[in-house]
Amino acid sequence: MHHFHYAGQNLHCESVDLAEVARLYGTPTYVYSAATIADNYQRLSNSLKGLDVRVCYAVKANSNLAVIRHLSNLGSSFDFASAGEMRRVVAAGGSVRTSVFAGVGKTETEIRLALEAGIASFHVESEPELARINHVAGKLGLKAAIAIRVNPDVDANTHAKITTGTSANKFGIPIRQAAAAYEAASKYPNISIQGVQTHIGSQITEVAPFVRTLEKLAPLAAELKERYRISYISIGGGIGVVYKDALASGAAAWWDAQPEGTRPLTPEAYGAALAPALRKLALKVLVEPGRSMVANSGVLITRVEYLKRGQGKNFLIVDAAMNDLVRPAMYDSYHEIVPLHRDTTRRALVADVVGPVCENTDTFARDRQIQEVGEGEYVALMSAGAYGHVMASRYNTRPLPAEVLVRGSSFEQVTARETFEQMIANEKIPAFLK
Ligand SMILES: *Cc1c(COP(=O)(O)O)cnc(C)c1O
Repeated sequence: MHHFHYAGQNLHCESVDLAEVARLYGTPTYVYSAATIADNYQRLSNSLKGLDVRVCYAVKANSNLAVIRHLSNLGSSFDFASAGEMRRVVAAGGSVRTSVFAGVGKTETEIRLALEAGIASFHVESEPELARINHVAGKLGLKAAIAIRVNPDVDANTHAKITTGTSANKFGIPIRQAAAAYEAASKYPNISIQGVQTHIGSQITEVAPFVRTLEKLAPLAAELKERYRISYISIGGGIGVVYKDALASGAAAWWDAQPEGTRPLTPEAYGAALAPALRKLALKVLVEPGRSMVANSGVLITRVEYLKRGQGKNFLIVDAAMNDLVRPAMYDSYHEIVPLHRDTTRRALVADVVGPVCENTDTFARDRQIQEVGEGEYVALMSAGAYGHVMASRYNTRPLPAEVLVRGSSFEQVTARETFEQMIANEKIPAFLK
């Protein structure tokens, strides 16, 4: 559920008319709903009630400082994929001491910075990384808390580019080798074994892969608790969201109308399916949701530049492009596209919705039926709050888009649109060309 809806004819985010945001700040602009993020956070936390749970929001999904601050105010800790993300959390006033550091390629510098900042734990992905963390911790005279990321070899039935939990992926240590890796870890003087971790992929829309993973991991976790007194299990992120009926899924009635068995994964179903096995382990539980906290909290609003009527094909050319939102080009992903001003007297239009970048993949939707809209009008790409702005680039020397946060009837720009001067600030012409 989310807080985007039509009030009268105009699409609103909470109590704010999105046309107003477009007029004030221009387009393309990402707009986020603080109430939706709060709901997402609260629902997941409540779904695991009764357990000793810590939510570590995966910063990579949306690392805007305002989003981080909002989640921190709600009580969230964080999961970093780089030192840069950790520094964002520090800058936003979040807690590093309760947060964790993930990723297959942590550099020496990143490990040092994280140890100096008092990171709660490293999620280790290989034996050489273990040796490196031990080495860096030794130089600082510290003990590094770790959990090993275990690859359970479970297929999450999601897009191949976002599957991480099968033996064919680069992530984690295969579950059969995990006991040996922990044994090796226990021999390092500057390592303190604290937990076990897994994460099997993203946009997982059924509960079964999570359940299978926990079934595989629970015996290992129990053994590690016995042997090394581990204090926590981290079950990763990966909870899927609704992309196809994004707008309709804002209403509770839409969820009630979905037939039993085909209802998309909810935080409540996720929590209910996993809580019994977790309770038995009696360990602290970490969850690392990214997408499910922020995806449906954001839209990308964009202006229609041209409606180009071709032979048997229409093109709706908008001022957002693959550099602003790369998911359709990169993952073939679907984003619902709706007009900011709804007019039921207009005809429907079937068109490819495309950006201005010189690439065929700069296409947000193919043969999409939408209300006829013309030059100067606006549309919104729904469910763009996760892996949207964070993946934006400057391809075609297009500035990184603006971001706006809404709460109730208040809204503020939380990232200004880049200027041309900022885009070229780090470049120079070498002396030998002068
Ligand atoms: C990306 C990632 C997450 C978050 O995944 P979502 O699908 O966005 O919930 C959590 N944990 C780890 C280790 C990750 O790499």
